[in-house]
Amino acid sequence: MAKIKSAYFCQSCGYESVKWLGKCPSCNQWNTFVEEIIQKPSSAVPEWKGPGGTSKVAKPSAIHEIAYTEESRLATPDHEFNRVLGGGIVPGSLVLIGGEPGIGKSTLMLQLALNLKGKKILYVSGEESEQQIKMRAERLSQAEPAKDGTGVFILTETSTQNIFKQIEILEPDLIIIDSIQTLHSAHIDSTPGSVSQVRECAAELMRFAKETATPVFLIGHITKDGSIAGPKILEHMVDTVLQFEGDRHHVYRILRAVKNRFGSASELGIYEMQGVGLREVSNPSEILLSQRDEELTGITISAMLEGVRPMLIETQALVSASAYGTPQRSATGFDTKRMNMLLAVLEKRCGFRLSAKDVFLNIAGGLRVEDPAVDLGIIVAIISSHEDISVSSKICFAAEVGLSGEIRAVNRIEHRIAEAQKLGFEEIYISKYNLKGIDRTRYTIEIKTSSKIEDVFASLFG
Ligand SMILES: [Zn+2]
Repeated sequence: MAKIKSAYFCQSCGYESVKWLGKCPSCNQWNTFVEEIIQKPSSAVPEWKGPGGTSKVAKPSAIHEIAYTEESRLATPDHEFNRVLGGGIVPGSLVLIGGEPGIGKSTLMLQLALNLKGKKILYVSGEESEQQIKMRAERLSQAEPAKDGTGVFILTETSTQNIFKQIEILEPDLIIIDSIQTLHSAHIDSTPGSVSQVRECAAELMRFAKETATPVFLIGHITKDGSIAGPKILEHMVDTVLQFEGDRHHVYRILRAVKNRFGSASELGIYEMQGVGLREVSNPSEILLSQRDEELTGITISAMLEGVRPMLIETQALVSASAYGTPQRSATGFDTKRMNMLLAVLEKRCGFRLSAKDVFLNIAGGLRVEDPAVDLGIIVAIISSHEDISVSSKICFAAEVGLSGEIRAVNRIEHRIAEAQKLGFEEIYISKYNLKGIDRTRYTIEIKTSSKIEDVFASLFG
């Protein structure tokens, strides 16, 4: 009889320990350790065996003999998805798609599967019945009958051993697992969704993906604090981690690459959730800029970059006299610490009395911005609201602000200028230090440069 072995796992990060611990040494969380039984088979046989029943033994190959072309990527009809993946689906890649429950991960993947014509796709669901998935596919109104053996096949199964059996019969070109937390492997005795179970199932699928060069997509739910539920360890195992995010009440969804072995990890795709599924948003600036007829105070536009894609976003600031003793500071879509730093710069360097004011900041469209190039736009929005003077909607900004109130250069300035010009802006404020190497005559947009924020305020607010 096999010896029953158990271990303690941190449910937050997947840290493994032989004894129970109150505080996780890895992620510093308290009371996260749960005992899980791991019954290892006497001989550690990998679960996925090749069609012949023997697992492949790898041999060294000379590097010039290895066949590889960039064209081996499978381009999907979804351009946003391709971009986030770095140009399409890489054969044999294991991709994790994380997101909060109900955000639309299953819709995204089912829609992708239905749109991939001429491929055999296996959609494994441990969450919904075949009828429920069919209903969803009908709603996406793209459920075509399978032709010449291709199309989407639905399997409601949670045992990895049974899934592999079906895979061997069907031989699909692509596999989607919805979700990794519902799978269980007979090799491990703990419950589905526990750290050891998720890790084992992912490892089995990883071996399968690498040995057969079949891409596998894993859907994973995210806990409230934003980490992939249970195992952070999963993020280390897979090739690519995509995050599907957005407010459930908003119509826009953002697909973000968090980790990508085959491309840039800063790419982003935007979708609009409609009744019939997700629609790609190919020109995000149009949705991120609100339509307004009159000039309002506290609103500015910044030219930011997400990955390598320039976008124009709207920042809104509201400065009002504080109703309570301690002024409130709150930012949506922007780092609050950085906002406080910018407020301190305005107070100290420019003499604005903001310490007794409530300051609220909002990035329109539900986006979260980390690009420092929005600094200048944000402080101008704050002063615009504070002074109650509006900024023309034909002006945009792209510069970082330093602690002494200096305007600093940002990367890829020409992309930002070109995007602003394309969208019909008439003026862009950038750092003086960004001017080097820019051929101003190439642009019809007026490029205003300065090195101090006071100069910008003087030219905008007089
Ligand atoms: Zn931990």
